[in-house]
Amino acid sequence: MSTLGRHASGRKKLRDLLLQQDNRRCADCNAPDPKWASANIGVFICLKCCGVHRSLGAQVSKVLSVALDDWSEDEIDAMVEVGGNASANSIYEAYIPEGHTKPGPDASHEQRTKYIRSKYELQEFLKPALRIVSGKNSKQNSLDSSLKSTSGSKNTEDLVEFIGKLKVKVIKGTNLAVRDMMTSDPYVVLNLGQQTVQTTVVGSNLNPVWNEEFMLFVPQDYGPLKLQVYDHDTFSADDIMGEANIDLQPMITSAMAFGDAGMFSDMQIGKWLKSHDNALTDDSPVNIVDGKVKQEMQLKLQNVESGELDLEIEWIPPLEL
Ligand SMILES: [Zn+2]
Repeated sequence: MSTLGRHASGRKKLRDLLLQQDNRRCADCNAPDPKWASANIGVFICLKCCGVHRSLGAQVSKVLSVALDDWSEDEIDAMVEVGGNASANSIYEAYIPEGHTKPGPDASHEQRTKYIRSKYELQEFLKPALRIVSGKNSKQNSLDSSLKSTSGSKNTEDLVEFIGKLKVKVIKGTNLAVRDMMTSDPYVVLNLGQQTVQTTVVGSNLNPVWNEEFMLFVPQDYGPLKLQVYDHDTFSADDIMGEANIDLQPMITSAMAFGDAGMFSDMQIGKWLKSHDNALTDDSPVNIVDGKVKQEMQLKLQNVESGELDLEIEWIPPLEL
């Protein structure tokens, strides 16, 4: 089977599991319609409980977004093997001693944290006979738990639900400003919500070509994609070489209005218009190309004497569940 085919069948397994009756409610607080999962524990959880799980660290609970994260086959198979919230809870909540009550959907962060830590980290609710082997679970999980969970912030007070992903390709710069004696060592920094990524530094070049791609999660209350160009300086702070804000609304609203772009042939579905108060050098159409929603643009860098930047962005909607 092709990689793509395997991927699709893994996705289907995950979707079928999520649609199972017991997985329509959060394993920890019964909130409806959980969209997150702990891939090592094997439970589907809500956004609020997800925040607590994340605070326990990936070695205890490795949280992934069902619709937005890239799941490995192993992670999907592990979820399938556990069999869902009911069978996980038959182990993790086998015996809830006095003094502990399962939180409801409206429980406070403190109540939730106390319960979730007792349930998974301390494993206090296992059948008495099983408790002696507690810790066994977290061992296998720490294997590949490193930095995979890129979605969302670490701060549990500051939880964000994401509406999709944005692939940003930084193509090239043209006629950038001089910051060293004769030239500059430019790189580009992109910022969306709490995520920041940057390109490599191109040495001594005012017309750098990057062709580098980045994936960013788009929060529900997304603002502009912010872009800044800097000159890398070995001996002092890096100098700014201009900036620009990219309005994502034309792309995201038209993409959402059209729904599944794979159903349409190539066509234009929207446009970000050049105006005196944005950085566009020309109108930037939003197109469906090969079933994908893409937008190319050239930006005139702001707050700098010269420089343009070519960029392509692509909207990646959450997977249908
Ligand atoms: Zn919950």
